[in-house]
Amino acid sequence: MANVALAFDIGGTELRGALVGRDGHVLAAASTPTLALAGPAAVVEQMAALAETLRAGHPEATVVGVGVGAPGPLDPRAGIVIAPPTLAGWADVPLADILGRRFGLPVRLENDANAAALGEWRFGAGRGAGSLVFVTVSTGIGGGVVAEGRLYHGRRGLAAEIGHMTITGGGERCFCGAVGCFEAVASGTALGRRATAATAPGDGSALRRLSGDAGISARHVIEAARGGDALALELVEEEARWLGIGFTNLLHLYSPDVLVMGGGLANGFDLLAGEIRATVVNRAMPAYRDVPIVPAQLGSHAGLVGAASLVLVGGQGEAASQGDAAATTFREVGHG
Ligand SMILES: [Zn+2]
Repeated sequence: MANVALAFDIGGTELRGALVGRDGHVLAAASTPTLALAGPAAVVEQMAALAETLRAGHPEATVVGVGVGAPGPLDPRAGIVIAPPTLAGWADVPLADILGRRFGLPVRLENDANAAALGEWRFGAGRGAGSLVFVTVSTGIGGGVVAEGRLYHGRRGLAAEIGHMTITGGGERCFCGAVGCFEAVASGTALGRRATAATAPGDGSALRRLSGDAGISARHVIEAARGGDALALELVEEEARWLGIGFTNLLHLYSPDVLVMGGGLANGFDLLAGEIRATVVNRAMPAYRDVPIVPAQLGSHAGLVGAASLVLVGGQGEAASQGDAAATTFREVGHG
């Protein structure tokens, strides 16, 4: 009888659940649109329903714990979701405790980007690395850092908010309220915005044809670039330059063995890689220039697999739902 974890990824639009084995294998997955405006109780009910579906399909599997990736900011040690901008009515929700009572199982909670970093480190593109930086580039930019064999949490578990490091003095205002955030200039949203601004409805451009003359998304830009469209290729190059600048900062800060890029924009990694590399070589100090920058391997499963590993592998210093266990893991986190 296989021991598995019940894993959840609470996204602002999609709530995903899975049964995951010890080796990172996803036995079963299911999802439903998140009731993001209905408050935490409604989402907990959705999680319970997903769990029932998943477990009914695999009666032979023994669920030994629950791992949850949720949007930050959250406190992984206390198991509390603090105030995610994508979930209305969530304020200091003790989700690990709530789910622990609901499922009668140990529960661990982690920032969704950190969970994806763990997944890629343990089972994906970062396997075997002592230190890793994971960057997810899609609507926004998030990330996680594994430093010397453990997830780097910082004060209140809030470390590695990569999307909001300042990398330019100007540009569009970030949703966080600041100007010049990595996310504001290098996310898929920013790429789509630049493409939309560079074209006009009815101009006959490949980008506008792909978007049906509506706003252009990053996906359209990648698709047009793949087709050889000159403007799209120019936009991809500019995007890669911004990513390269941000990645250079991360190499200097964390000196990882590998930098893994995930998120929707990683679908265009082959198109972006050349200029990302050129920018890093141009800007990073020589000792940092040869760090591999690679695409993520687990796709949208990274967060689920990483969250599952919190309960299946453990030993990482992430929160447990029980107070005593949390206190113990907190001590383990201290640098020795
Ligand atoms: Zn910001």
